[in-house]
Amino acid sequence: MPFPTALPPAPPEIKTVSPESPLRDVMNGASRLELKVLDHGFIALVDAMPRLVPESQTADQAIVQAARVSYGQGTKHINEDKGLIRYLLRHRHTTPFEMVEFKFHVCMPIFIARQWIRHRTANVNEYSGRYSIIPDRFYTPTLDAVRKQSASNRQGGEQTFAASDEQDIKPAEEFIAFLKGVEAQYSKYIDLTNKGVSRELARIGLPVNMYTEWYWKCDLHNLLHFLSLRMDSHAQLEIRAYGDAMYRLVEQIVPITMQAWRDYHFEAMHLTRLEIEAIAAMRSGGDGKLATDNKREQAEWEDKRKRLSL
Ligand SMILES: Cc1cc2nc3c(=O)[nH]c(=O)nc-3n(C[C@H](O)[C@H](O)[C@H](O)COP(=O)(O)OP(=O)(O)OC[C@H]3O[C@@H](n4cnc5c(N)ncnc54)[C@H](O)[C@@H]3O)c2cc1C
Repeated sequence: MPFPTALPPAPPEIKTVSPESPLRDVMNGASRLELKVLDHGFIALVDAMPRLVPESQTADQAIVQAARVSYGQGTKHINEDKGLIRYLLRHRHTTPFEMVEFKFHVCMPIFIARQWIRHRTANVNEYSGRYSIIPDRFYTPTLDAVRKQSASNRQGGEQTFAASDEQDIKPAEEFIAFLKGVEAQYSKYIDLTNKGVSRELARIGLPVNMYTEWYWKCDLHNLLHFLSLRMDSHAQLEIRAYGDAMYRLVEQIVPITMQAWRDYHFEAMHLTRLEIEAIAAMRSGGDGKLATDNKREQAEWEDKRKRLSL
């Protein structure tokens, strides 16, 4: 269909800017950088923005470039790129970090995908079990990695079962046998689809330890938020494995930012007003107890005190 109105005439030429120095591919010419995760999973970095940067730089450069447009002449006194990035991250400036993007291809168990998809600030496209047969890949932890229910954290597992203790290891063995039993249902799924049951219905009898795949694109600011939550010790071990691998992939592309994030956020510590008051009181002989009855808050403070050797 023709355009309803005529387009303006083409400009005489598109302005091209030749770089002063040669450009470098931040992925070193690779189409994917992949790490294996769990028994059948992987995470692969398949693209990044910026992909090309001046030879001596990293993709951190896009953050500096964006920040300088907002600060203009004002950045003259913060003239070192690394210093500027660290300043921006320390002071929670966010939009310059949104100028860097990453696209991943991820293969993970469905129960992990359910946690992952809660992060709404990414673009996702997932494998369709309506269009295609789901491949027979099941996540099965090794016997020595089966975790007991934590006594202190209702949401977590902690200690593993003792392989050397016949009694102790029994529930772990039963659990692995249970997973293998569910896995055996896969051939029934194939059989039913062969007999004409739609793939979209046949799949609903499959377990959540099956692997799914998706492409996941996210900017660096939101990726750091994802990593803060999913590399944290409170996150489930299996999603932490993906968070750790993702960190390793991204670290090569934006090393200055990732170091700053570790220094100012991930390995840093937030103190509440009550905690600051408790420290101040300790200096005048106080016992360092927190002025609250909340047990969880008290436990969190005890952990921080240990870390601070107080
Ligand atoms: C250890 C752990 C345990 C969890 N347990 C549970 C659980 O038991 N049950 C459960 O349901 N969930 C649980 N979650 C999921 C959790 O509550 C969050 O939904 C998830 O971590 C995504 O966080 P987010 O919303 O900050 O991230 P994103 O969706 O990536 O959003 C990033 C940020 O963008 C902003 N944002 C995004 N969308 C909106 C919006 N629509 N409106 C306003 N601001 C927005 C917010 O500032 C948000 O922090 C758990 C998460 C963790 C890490």
